[in-house]
Amino acid sequence: MKGGVDLGGTKIQAVVSDGTALVLGRARRETPRSGGPEAIVLELAEALRAALDDAGVEPMGLSGVGVGAPGSIEPDTGVVVQVANIEGWEAPFPLGPALAEEIGRPVAVGNDVNVAVEAERRFGAGRGFDSFLGVFWGTGVGGGIVMDGRMLAGRGSAGEIGHVCAKPGGRRCNCGLDGCVEAYAGRGALEERARELAKERKTVLCEIMEKRGRDRLTSGVWLRALQAGDTVAEELIERAVQALGVGIGSAVTLLDVEAVVVGGGLGERLGPEWLQRIEHAARAHTFFREPPAYRLAELGDLGGAIGASLIAP
Ligand SMILES: [Zn+2]
Repeated sequence: MKGGVDLGGTKIQAVVSDGTALVLGRARRETPRSGGPEAIVLELAEALRAALDDAGVEPMGLSGVGVGAPGSIEPDTGVVVQVANIEGWEAPFPLGPALAEEIGRPVAVGNDVNVAVEAERRFGAGRGFDSFLGVFWGTGVGGGIVMDGRMLAGRGSAGEIGHVCAKPGGRRCNCGLDGCVEAYAGRGALEERARELAKERKTVLCEIMEKRGRDRLTSGVWLRALQAGDTVAEELIERAVQALGVGIGSAVTLLDVEAVVVGGGLGERLGPEWLQRIEHAARAHTFFREPPAYRLAELGDLGGAIGASLIAP
């Protein structure tokens, strides 16, 4: 039995699995916004215990736990060297050792998007393709590249499609570069821009957020605003789609992959209609007459955690 935990900018998802896509237990927690990495380790452990409870499995029944974390990871040590989209976490932190100490089981740490792409390759929308580009559209925009049936690692961090330039000299991205895809398409950037626009234009985004008892513009809030015909939401999501199109179309031109698999909170919530719009936007930047197949990720909310369980010791 293996544990898998997906650490995201807004939520922590934990699963207990048997090493396949079969999930025996699951639990979800909010990502703490204060207290730094120490608070996050405690919450990761809580999520894992709740998933174990759900599965009816004792902690000692786990051979190990895998964690998918957003950022650059040293896989050998479990140190998160650089972290993205988590408030109050700046410096490198030994996430693997700290969680292992907390739960008493061995822990391996990998990049959240890489593990999610690997899960899609083995059990989801990437099955049957020798090469594909995985794009995870959520708080940030992450990516992973599968070539000849294997994840492309580069020097360790290949596939950062969110930080490909969509607009030279454009909006400043969290990463420090200008005009990144993520600076237009990441949910964090979308929310920032929506709050600016809300001062001068009418939008139901914040209203829907409050009605649903949220304090962030979640993927569900964006979906409802689009369904309500909110023009601010439409404009911002359309701009996000255009930025994704530049990044994805350029990557396809460079890599000539068989397929593009789009997942993440926004990718999944917005669904097939918006996948088509992304495909359309990407085609404008694709060199080849024959475009790759475009697919929605299949493992949903649990994909990251299932992927994390695949690297568990
Ligand atoms: Zn960037």
